[in-house]
Amino acid sequence: MKVIKNPLEMQKTAFKHFKNGDEIGLIPTMGALHYGHVSLFKKAVKGNDITIASIFVNPTQFGPNEDYLKYPKPIQKDLEICRKSCIDYVFMPLANSMFPMSHKTYVEVKTLQDTLCGSFRKNHFRGVATVVLKLFNISCADRAYFGIKDFQQLRIIERMTKDLNFKTKIISCPIVRESSGLAISSRNSYLNDTERKLSANIYKILKVAAQDFKNKDFKSIKKNTFDRLKEIPVSKVDYIEILNFDDLSPADENAKKVIFAVALWIGGTRLIDNIFMIKPGRS
Ligand code: AMP
Repeated sequence: MKVIKNPLEMQKTAFKHFKNGDEIGLIPTMGALHYGHVSLFKKAVKGNDITIASIFVNPTQFGPNEDYLKYPKPIQKDLEICRKSCIDYVFMPLANSMFPMSHKTYVEVKTLQDTLCGSFRKNHFRGVATVVLKLFNISCADRAYFGIKDFQQLRIIERMTKDLNFKTKIISCPIVRESSGLAISSRNSYLNDTERKLSANIYKILKVAAQDFKNKDFKSIKKNTFDRLKEIPVSKVDYIEILNFDDLSPADENAKKVIFAVALWIGGTRLIDNIFMIKPGRS
């Protein structure tokens, strides 16, 4: 495994592999790696000749009052996880080599970037789409791996890839959860023991909502979910939304397959989770 920090060196190395006919798999991450990331690594290693895992806490996707500065950076542990996962290259650029003061270009994925987390985290998805586009160009990736845990991000990257004619195929990967049901996230390390136990209820509540989808209307599903979340107790609910699975447009009661997505705060930690809901016999 080779660690590369310089974007140009990474690009030249990837291009050599590309010219050699190697298929390249990219797994973009912000580090603080966990089993969720490892599930993406495994898929990428299996499906490509060469794998590039990027570890980059991207400043352009954080708002001024968010956790950019305190985002965990256990570099040695992360490198060990990459090594054990048989990753070929770890691309670990410095912030100012990806986004120097002179940087002026940003990508926006209209409409998709504005719903769900986009309405609470201004410019977040602009930062995400821009860094992923740069990573595609640097890595010459044939395939790029993204978790369904960040479902809106996945849909935005898929749209951008199509709209901008990238050859990169987007591979979506299922949510990896702790045995309690809590979706694994680097930000779970912010939770204390009590908060972590409480957070395990989120997935239970999502599963109840998915059951209710078969015979209850959206308004009552959302209200019941809100009431149950309040009982956990969560400190704040950012959103509880039911959107069409394919394009994240608002779903109506006749929708067959929807995504039920929540964002909420447990203490000072913002968590997101989601579940698909399918009407039996109508998928
Ligand atoms: P992050 O480091 O949080 O930016 O995540 C990097 C990639 O890993 C993204 O595509 C995430 O959706 C994915 N990911 C994060 N947590 C999980 C999880 N629990 N299960 C599956 N994929 C995940």
